[in-house]
Amino acid sequence: MLIFIIDFDEKNQCFICNLERTAFEKKGESFEVHTKSEHFVWNYVYYLIYLRTKNRLDFTGTESYVCDKFENEDLSWFPIQRALSLVSSDKEEEEDVKAMVEEKLSAVQKKILDTIASTGSNQQMMQMGNLQLNAGRLKSRARKGNQRGTYMVNN
Ligand SMILES: [Zn+2]
Repeated sequence: MLIFIIDFDEKNQCFICNLERTAFEKKGESFEVHTKSEHFVWNYVYYLIYLRTKNRLDFTGTESYVCDKFENEDLSWFPIQRALSLVSSDKEEEEDVKAMVEEKLSAVQKKILDTIASTGSNQQMMQMGNLQLNAGRLKSRARKGNQRGTYMVNN
């Protein structure tokens, strides 16, 4: 039987991600909640035991990935220096992107309306209608505020 003796300050550092208590306090997050739920050590232990007892043929993609890494003593699947509760969604950046998309879409719509007004041909109107539909779709996607999504706006 292997016994590991680890000199570890579990009161002030997360065993899973290595982040320190102060990092959580700075963001107004609870270090206790983090270590008791988000990065609860025993969940990782149970998961590894579960993988060791499960038939490899029944593994999901993620399970194969983790098991292979674990057997190769590769810890890259561990969230070292990463914690979901500390990920900032960067609201300002998101708002900037949204404003930019809205602006571009308004310009596109204006162009469409101008073209319709100047041509007035039926076929053109239908093409423009399609464009408008696409613009509407883009707009609703922008409203949903996909985090760090890529917005494609063709002018
Ligand atoms: Zn952690």
